[in-house]
Amino acid sequence: MLDLRETTGRGTRFRLFPQPFFLESYREPLVVELPVPPGSLAPGPADARMYAIRPLGKRIPYGFTETGALYLPPWQGPIVPPPAPDPQGHFDWIPPGDPRFLPAHAFACARFVLAVWERFLGPVRWHFADVYPRLEIVCLDGWDNGQGGFGFLELGENIRWRGRVHSFALNFDTIAHEMGHLLVFAHLGLPDPAGLDGEYRGFHEAMADLIALVAVAHFDVVLDEVLEKTRGNLYVTNELGRFAELSASEQIRIASNSVTMAEFAVGWSDEHDLALPLLGAFFDILVEIFQTLLVERGHLPPAIIAFADNVERMQAFQHPIDEIHEKAYARDPAGFRQALADARDILARYLAALLRSLPGGPISYARIALLTAGIERRITGGRFARAVEESFAWRQIGRVRVGPLLTDLPSRSHIGSSRTAAPPSGRAGRACRRRSPRRA
Ligand SMILES: [Zn+2]
Repeated sequence: MLDLRETTGRGTRFRLFPQPFFLESYREPLVVELPVPPGSLAPGPADARMYAIRPLGKRIPYGFTETGALYLPPWQGPIVPPPAPDPQGHFDWIPPGDPRFLPAHAFACARFVLAVWERFLGPVRWHFADVYPRLEIVCLDGWDNGQGGFGFLELGENIRWRGRVHSFALNFDTIAHEMGHLLVFAHLGLPDPAGLDGEYRGFHEAMADLIALVAVAHFDVVLDEVLEKTRGNLYVTNELGRFAELSASEQIRIASNSVTMAEFAVGWSDEHDLALPLLGAFFDILVEIFQTLLVERGHLPPAIIAFADNVERMQAFQHPIDEIHEKAYARDPAGFRQALADARDILARYLAALLRSLPGGPISYARIALLTAGIERRITGGRFARAVEESFAWRQIGRVRVGPLLTDLPSRSHIGSSRTAAPPSGRAGRACRRRSPRRA
């Protein structure tokens, strides 16, 4: 299987910020090799799957305009001169300050996410393939949002965050999230308006975040940062709170939440909030798989899992648990990283199977939980059945139904596919108990 972490010399090189460049650990972009042969990419960059542009004079984003007309690609106007590859076919010669860096970076991120997910999904056919053979990636100045839609992935600018303007074309998480929507559309098609209810919308947002989470977890530098800060202790709630606060990745911070369906029993008003129980359940499954792998591989004593069976005991023994993790991580950080990468791949296989299983039925959280339990049995033979079952149960998925839409606010963007990369609400960093104690 293709390992995107390795430089083989057979791919095309780009410079890429796996996390926003203003964060301490990510000042310098990484040199990343995309799994496409050098010389196969045209100026743009462009290939048979997608191309990036930085238009001049494009004033509004694609989608429905104020008059209700549908505005779609391709952009026909002038563009910033596209970056060309060097004589060997690579794009890593472009310095970050160059105006041509933006389209090169956006293309690299989107193409990386596609390459990661084609490992799990097989070849992806765009939902708009009958109309447009290629995805148009637009770096749009002066627009405060990002969106993925019919034939396009459009990246504006984050104007408000930390007093600085930065283009979403430089933000891997945003690009990966929007690519997530496009990968869901590729499998499910566009929704029937009749079926476009809260759980459908929440599912879309949760999947987009999970797709982004799996993608960003393909960078060793990101895995190492998470493990360094938590010493691999993603299991204990207090640590997860810390994890949520310190992790650079927006997707990881949002995934590590403690929201249950009870919050939406009377109704909902924002699909990104409604996504949190489903997203959190899958994140809990990832953490449980990681923990199990650490024990199975001898990095941690089996007794560590027993502590998690009982909340009081876990709290009383917090210090020794921290110490065990501290020592175990220091002994073999590479082993911890491998376990997290393997847990990530197992989660990705579940999600890919889920995307393949969903067409033809209603999108409800309860059905997703049921399908995932079946997928777990098929793929991992019941080894993580308890993690799957308890994670959904703790979120009250399948027991509490979502109430009605409370405020009929218009979706923030075209076909509900957008989210800015502004920092998440305090919800994700809340230091409260994430899971119930396990049953004996
Ligand atoms: Zn979204």
